[in-house]
Amino acid sequence: SSAVTSSTKIVLNLESLGSLPADEAGPLARYASTIQAQRHDYNGKVLSIRAEDLKSLAIIYDMSPDELTTRLIEWGVLSPGMESVVGFGGP
Ligand code: C2E
Ligand code: C2E
Ligand code: C2E
Repeated sequence: SSAVTSSTKIVLNLESLGSLPADEAGPLARYASTIQAQRHDYNGKVLSIRAEDLKSLAIIYDMSPDELTTRLIEWGVLSPGMESVVGFGGP
């Protein structure tokens, strides 16, 4: 399995997430809502999630973590540059 470097946090933009079509963003939106509920963290514009959670989400979306990261950047949910710093799929 690929290594995950945890030097940079994965920070989801909840405003971008909320404006995406539900058929694509639905699973991610439900995952983020669950984390918010578990933390009782409802008022943020962003949500920091665990690196492990991105791996779980990649399984949900049937993508590699790299592919999901690229998709999240395209959606505006992650900041550009995360591909290089998240560090999935390296040797
Ligand atoms: P940071 O982690 O870089 O977060 C910067 C700001 O982004 C936070 O400012 C907050 O407004 C927002 N933010 C980031 N992640 C979340 C999230 O999951 N939920 C919500 N609601 N907002 C989020 P803030 O709150 O003034 O915190 C400033 C810094 O203080 C944070 O920088 C972090 O280094 C630290 N910090 C604050 N709360 C916690 C915490 O519960 N645990 C840890 N480990 N650090 C915290
Ligand atoms: P838990 O994993 O047993 O974590 C208990 C508490 O330890 C958390 O309470 C939080 O205060 C702290 N904690 C654990 N890991 C971290 C971390 O990486 N960074 C920070 N800043 N704090 C950490 P909290 O936030 O009330 O969360 C309650 C439970 O909700 C957690 O219990 C966990 O089961 C779940 N949860 C919350 N956020 C996440 C998440 O981002 N991903 C996942 N997979 N579960 C989460
Ligand atoms: P990470 O697991 O990749 O988590 C990244 C960020 O997601 C955390 O940054 C925190 O902002 C958020 N986060 C993750 N889990 C929780 C949670 O249960 N509750 C809350 N409120 N926020 C959560 P942070 O806090 O700066 O932690 C950076 C890294 O340090 C984490 O990366 C993890 O590797 C480690 N870490 C921090 N606290 C704990 C802990 O209580 N238990 C463990 N096993 N690792 C921790």
